[in-house]
Amino acid sequence: MLPEIENLLKLQDVDKEIRRLRDEVAELPKRVAAIEARLAGTKAQLDKAHAAVKTDEAARRKYESSITELRTKISKYRDQSLDVKTNEQYRALLHEIQFAEKEIAANEDKILELMVNADARDKEVKAAQADLKAETAEIEQEKEQARQRTAEDEKLLAEWRGKRDQLRSGISENLLRHYERVSKFRGSGISEVRDHKCMGCQVMLRPQTYNEVRSGRETVVCDSCQRILYFDPKEELVDQIPSLHRPKRHHPKIDAPQAWYYRPEFAGDGEVFLCLTNLRGQASRRVYDIHTGRLIGDILVREGDFRQAFPEDITGAMRLNGNWSEKDLDNFGTELPMVVLDSLNADLDLARHEASTGSHVKEPVPTGQAAS
Ligand SMILES: [Zn+2]
Repeated sequence: MLPEIENLLKLQDVDKEIRRLRDEVAELPKRVAAIEARLAGTKAQLDKAHAAVKTDEAARRKYESSITELRTKISKYRDQSLDVKTNEQYRALLHEIQFAEKEIAANEDKILELMVNADARDKEVKAAQADLKAETAEIEQEKEQARQRTAEDEKLLAEWRGKRDQLRSGISENLLRHYERVSKFRGSGISEVRDHKCMGCQVMLRPQTYNEVRSGRETVVCDSCQRILYFDPKEELVDQIPSLHRPKRHHPKIDAPQAWYYRPEFAGDGEVFLCLTNLRGQASRRVYDIHTGRLIGDILVREGDFRQAFPEDITGAMRLNGNWSEKDLDNFGTELPMVVLDSLNADLDLARHEASTGSHVKEPVPTGQAAS
């Protein structure tokens, strides 16, 4: 892998971390605001309870002063009653006194009612005060945590920014600009290639592009998403480990509609892989250079089954494992992808080993190989 690509991968991780920290720092004031809004709610509750107590107290004072006034009136009426001359006047005063007494009783009832209520009011105030106290403590703690977190985040951000600057200095300006432009639009600027696909946009790469990425000699960008592409050989090794440890070579089916062969010499072109396929009553033959994977000559099509159509090619050739769809073969175009080429070469090694130890020989061994 190119050192620049390695730096870009590290840069991508660093950028991700910086973004996360920045988002977290931006979130904190919002969290504090939410905490404070909650506290304001509890404060309002307490204010309301206090206000209710005050209203009740004012009402009580009003009733009490009414009672005092009424009592004064009564005593005045009593004084007047001593001086009245007629029964009629006396009755009128008596009526006034009775009315005032009724009013006093009504006010006393209201005061009693308020006194009963006062207990409930008191409880409301005490509960709101306790809530406020608990919440204030909790909120202070949360705010302190938020402050600490922000301070830590800021410190980490400074560190990550330092690392980022260092990584950026190890990447060419053009590549960096491209990475940043794509990151801005797509959220990431670099993408792994696996199974011939750009993992960023899931689009299949052209075989040539794939081979270029895989060779790790130059920077290649995805045609469809513009992300910078890289290939991680470790990922491929993971896929290959089971096959490397496979005790026996898997053997191709005799009657498969597609067959791959190796020939040590073919029409003056040296070592080749032949791919023979049957499709809709016709047989086709593709010839590839085993080192470069390049298609040699045209695709030859003949009537009938490939065994009958190309007997001279099969005779003395070494049968290999390999099966790709007709569409894949078309997609490969004039060059086999590196994985296909590797897989054929790996199978060729196993087949040669098998042939030399005689552990399993089903297909005719080419004469050139038998001697070695
Ligand atoms: Zn892509």
